[in-house]
Amino acid sequence: AEVYLNGRFMPLGDAKIPVLDRGFLFGDGVYEVIPAYHRKPLRLHAHLDRLERSLAGIRLANPLSRADWEGVILHLLRSHEAANQAIYLQITRGAPAVRDHRFPQRTQPTVFAMTKTLAPRDPRISEQGVAAVLREDTRWQRCDIKSISLVAAVLLRQEAADAEAEEALLVREGWVVEGSTSNLFVVRDGILSTPPTGPELLSGITRELVMELAACESLPLIEQPVSVEDCRAADELWICSSTRELLPVTRLDGVAVGQGLVGPLWHRLNAAYQACKADLEHG
Ligand code: PLP
Repeated sequence: AEVYLNGRFMPLGDAKIPVLDRGFLFGDGVYEVIPAYHRKPLRLHAHLDRLERSLAGIRLANPLSRADWEGVILHLLRSHEAANQAIYLQITRGAPAVRDHRFPQRTQPTVFAMTKTLAPRDPRISEQGVAAVLREDTRWQRCDIKSISLVAAVLLRQEAADAEAEEALLVREGWVVEGSTSNLFVVRDGILSTPPTGPELLSGITRELVMELAACESLPLIEQPVSVEDCRAADELWICSSTRELLPVTRLDGVAVGQGLVGPLWHRLNAAYQACKADLEHG
């Protein structure tokens, strides 16, 4: 497999950046992760639109045209042996000659892209679900930007791992906004809820897709704030992301969610999600 760095394709071991890169020094950059099935990216334009918004959010011009991004992505997908992959894109504010918080003048951004195998989901997940824990959200106020400054998310996800949970659900002023690396859906009395988008959470592409699939399935869905109590009293709780798809959460802080079993609506929406992936393959 090859990677892309600043206009060239090369083996991963040859890709090097200067230590003064602002991504390394300040976490001054943004990224994107795009799932691909049978070498076809899922929701590519939505991902590239979000990349555009993330770049605007940190006041960095998009270094590549849409056609160039597509070319890079398709090249990487073809160079990799696995059919199902996760494409990773990252842009930083480049590597000026001195370390200074202020934006450098005349410095080219660093543009990097790679791909990796998208591992199939552990079949036990659809039988048993996963565990999650609630944690205070310690991140910044612009979680709508897919920033590479991820240390808060790293610590929170590790806290979940330490608690043998798949995800940390993040609480801000009593409201559960999202997971450390995923968005959130709650089912209660047959009605789906998900927190509305805003600066406190990342507008997930998978979240959008799940909302569309719920509409296709005629399932009532409301974008509304979700409280800790809503999560604890839920019949079903789900998390979703590009690399993990839609996952049922059956234990929250060690307590069963609903009956503690994978719920019927998860099965319905997961089937719709899998059908959507299959359409990509045949379409
Ligand atoms: N929220 C956060 C904080 C994330 O890091 C991610 C993705 O990793 C998501 C939500 C889900 O976004 P998407 O469905 O676009 O992968």
